[in-house]
Amino acid sequence: MIDEAAMLLLNSTSMNLLNSTLAVILSLFPHWMIKPFAKPYVAGESIAEVITHVHALNVLGFSATIDILGEHVKTTTEATAITKSYLDIMSAIFQNGLNSNISIKPTHIGLDINYDTARDNLFTLLSKANEIQSFVRIDMEDSPYTDAAIKLYLEACMKYTNVGLVIQSYLHRSSDDISRLKGEKFNVRICKGIYKEAESIAFQSKAKINENYIKLVQSILSNGGYVAIATHDLNLINELEDWIIKNEIAPDRFEFQVLFGVPMSGRLQALLAKGYSVRQYVPFGEEWHDYSIRRLKENPKIISYVLKNMFKKN
Ligand SMILES: Cc1cc2nc3c(=O)[nH]c(=O)nc-3n(C[C@H](O)[C@H](O)[C@H](O)COP(=O)(O)OP(=O)(O)OC[C@H]3O[C@@H](n4cnc5c(N)ncnc54)[C@H](O)[C@@H]3O)c2cc1C
Repeated sequence: MIDEAAMLLLNSTSMNLLNSTLAVILSLFPHWMIKPFAKPYVAGESIAEVITHVHALNVLGFSATIDILGEHVKTTTEATAITKSYLDIMSAIFQNGLNSNISIKPTHIGLDINYDTARDNLFTLLSKANEIQSFVRIDMEDSPYTDAAIKLYLEACMKYTNVGLVIQSYLHRSSDDISRLKGEKFNVRICKGIYKEAESIAFQSKAKINENYIKLVQSILSNGGYVAIATHDLNLINELEDWIIKNEIAPDRFEFQVLFGVPMSGRLQALLAKGYSVRQYVPFGEEWHDYSIRRLKENPKIISYVLKNMFKKN
């Protein structure tokens, strides 16, 4: 019995090691070889493709938020082009009657050029979103941009109501940020945080990040705000769902969010069946390569699934 358990553990450890090594090796391969692995996570390269995917998600009961892959643009021409593409996406969302909004990265609409460029582009997007009764979520990038992202959000709130922010539970500062921002108008996505941050400013252990995650969500919901609970961590989802039920939080005060293509073992359908809102973050665009490699490194098990499907006999 012990031998069997040890063998199972050894097998799963060596599979994980093999998948992780493959993920690193894959990042060195030419783009055409990575494409099959990118497919589950990226909704194509064109607006037409992403709109088709979002329509399919809507049919299944999911709402969506569309993200154009890329970040850190260095010229105003690029920042204007990205802003224009987001405007086109919003027109397509409206024309197709889709249940979707957009998520933008501040450095993708010009924050690295200067603050004013990012603010002007954000306001252009918010005006359009207002016109079609949609919403813009400001994604949170790494810590050098946290203050500017919050400033963008606060400035936007003075003029618009259809704007939301993201706060990362791995940052020590997040609890203070939430205390400052919380209230009925606060609309925030809570995520763990994806960037590598120093120990001096960010929790490193999963337990601490999760503990903070729960505290942040509870604090926002206890103060009248709206939360998007963005995680694939099933334990975290279970724990928060229990708290929400116990505290009789109305379902229109929160939603669950996941990244398009991440396997969730039927949990999303179960959440929908209970009447909760579930939104999928749907990235697309020409810059799919780096995003997909990041996803594969996060969950190298995907490599085995894709390989199995590629070689499966029909
Ligand atoms: C809708 C959404 C929006 C996000 N926006 C931001 C943002 O603006 N700023 C930011 O810093 N981060 C953002 N993130 C990323 C987030 O911070 C985490 O890095 C990421 O979601 C992994 O954390 P987790 O909560 O899923 O928990 P984990 O503990 O990392 O993962 C839980 C389980 O899910 C699996 N899993 C997790 N992620 C993936 C994946 N991508 N592919 C396959 N399996 C996976 C893991 O293998 C594990 O089994 C966002 C995440 C989501 C879901």
